[in-house]
Amino acid sequence: MKKYLQLLLILIFSFSLLINGCGVSPQTTVPVQTDPVQTTAGTLQVHFIDVGQGDAILVQTPAGQNMLVDAGDNSYGGEVIEYLTSQGVEQLDIVVGTHPHADHIGGLDTVIDHFPVQKVYLPKVTHTTKTFRDLLAAVKDNGLKVTTAKAGVDLPLEGLNAYFAAPVEDSYESLNNYSAVIKIDYGSHSFLFTGDAEAESEAQILSAGTDIKTTVLKVGHHGSSSSTSPEFLQAAAPRYAVIMLGEDNPYGHPHRETMELLNSAGVEIFRTDRDGTIVFSTNGEDIEIN
Ligand SMILES: [Zn+2]
Repeated sequence: MKKYLQLLLILIFSFSLLINGCGVSPQTTVPVQTDPVQTTAGTLQVHFIDVGQGDAILVQTPAGQNMLVDAGDNSYGGEVIEYLTSQGVEQLDIVVGTHPHADHIGGLDTVIDHFPVQKVYLPKVTHTTKTFRDLLAAVKDNGLKVTTAKAGVDLPLEGLNAYFAAPVEDSYESLNNYSAVIKIDYGSHSFLFTGDAEAESEAQILSAGTDIKTTVLKVGHHGSSSSTSPEFLQAAAPRYAVIMLGEDNPYGHPHRETMELLNSAGVEIFRTDRDGTIVFSTNGEDIEIN
């Protein structure tokens, strides 16, 4: 029976090739029932790129779009470009700088100078550092404009649901809380990138009623205890957590409290300091980790 089905599929496939190949006008309806043929859904790939103590995340969508969220410290710009190139990236549809700290936006100016970029998102906050000025200069020099990243803004990625869940408010004491938080839903899987958002921002995301239930959580602020509040973790209920951090970093990341919380929630943890770059691939149903 299985063999017969396979044969039938091959026949249907060859037949449709023949029809299309001959350039028959689309009006000619083909009396072949194509429903049983499984169309392979495209793959969504999310790369948590090892940039030491910092964040850099590449998202490659089923429709072939590329989004880069952060690019590590200034010294990592070249490595991020190299990695993106090795993954076939020739242009970036979206670049997001989560917040103005150097371990997130440091490499972005180099990346924006290198690849054609369609759209740049940053939270509405300024910073006095040269790193931040360099980023704004790169945006301007390449004829781009900054679009404000804030809760409720949708990201123009085809074939999936992607939006900012934070920042919810306009002003914070800590720069970390301006972090652009991104949620991506594809089929039965989701990804949540939290930048360095701390408990204050997490509480606002929860109050806003945003659905943050996710398969993969990029743990906030490199595993610091200032982020990943128990309530936030409970609502996100991730199966996998990714902590982006450098080996022997001076901040003691990841903090013991965060590790204990994740462990007691039964979350499988990946860390860039131990595992290097971590890549998730999903067709919306199955999920694979490399
Ligand atoms: Zn950081």
